[in-house]
Amino acid sequence: RIVYVNGQYLPESEATISIFDRGFLMADGVYEVTSVLDGKLLDFAGHSVRLARSLKELDIATPCSDEELLAIHRELVTRNEVVDGMIYLQVTRGNPGDRDFAFPGADVKPTLVMFTQSKPGMADSPQAKTGIKVISIEDIRWGRRDIKTVQLLYPSMGKMMAKKAGADDAWMVEDGHVTEGTSNNAYIVKNGRIITRQLSHDILHGITRAAVLRFAAEAQMEVEERPFTIDEAKAADEAFFTSASAFVMPVVEIDEAAIGTGKPGPVATRLREIYLEESRKTAI
Ligand code: PLP
Repeated sequence: RIVYVNGQYLPESEATISIFDRGFLMADGVYEVTSVLDGKLLDFAGHSVRLARSLKELDIATPCSDEELLAIHRELVTRNEVVDGMIYLQVTRGNPGDRDFAFPGADVKPTLVMFTQSKPGMADSPQAKTGIKVISIEDIRWGRRDIKTVQLLYPSMGKMMAKKAGADDAWMVEDGHVTEGTSNNAYIVKNGRIITRQLSHDILHGITRAAVLRFAAEAQMEVEERPFTIDEAKAADEAFFTSASAFVMPVVEIDEAAIGTGKPGPVATRLREIYLEESRKTAI
């Protein structure tokens, strides 16, 4: 693979980051994952707007313009011959040359790293046909989950708890209500209504969520943005999640209880089709 590090395209074995980089020492950084289908980027504009917001909230300098970011994305897709897959982008506060809790001055430039992950045929994932299983776990993350930071230890632990329980993912619960999945936004469907938690500091403002809710509204589907409980999810007709890399994924089991028929439901299936069709149209 050819990867990008601070202005250079290098074979991955030659790419290096300082041990003093604040991303490494303090998880002081943010990231984005953008999907590629047929060699084109899905919703690049959405991801670059959210990246700018994450950086601003943490007072990390912008590493380069949106035009340059797009050019790097495209260059990596070309050099690595990515047809379907993802591009991972990470910006950290950079390398102050030592360890210190205080942020460094403006002379320390942010570190920008990008790499591709090829996933041939990702739009036809077999999991989307069978649906996936989730468990519920307590949400013990920090209070600014709207910022897409690289602090992914608890979500990783959640994923491992799910695997250990024979499931695929975990939905996190705070004050009795589902916040989101370890790396996705959570939804249920009851009597034709799509229910998903409203935006706040409690969840990541998913780029796929925004697109799916827009497509749902255009298709005259009813959407209610409010928190829901695990009991409500278990009694729902359908459940699903959204993320840039999984698109719309049906959830057929929560804490070992089958949801609806135990198979992917019509709303999730239709939204997945609409999402893939519409986002391919605007891919760049
Ligand atoms: N929520 C969390 C915690 C995530 O990590 C992600 C994606 O990584 C999402 C939601 C979905 O966001 P997006 O649709 O922008 O990928």
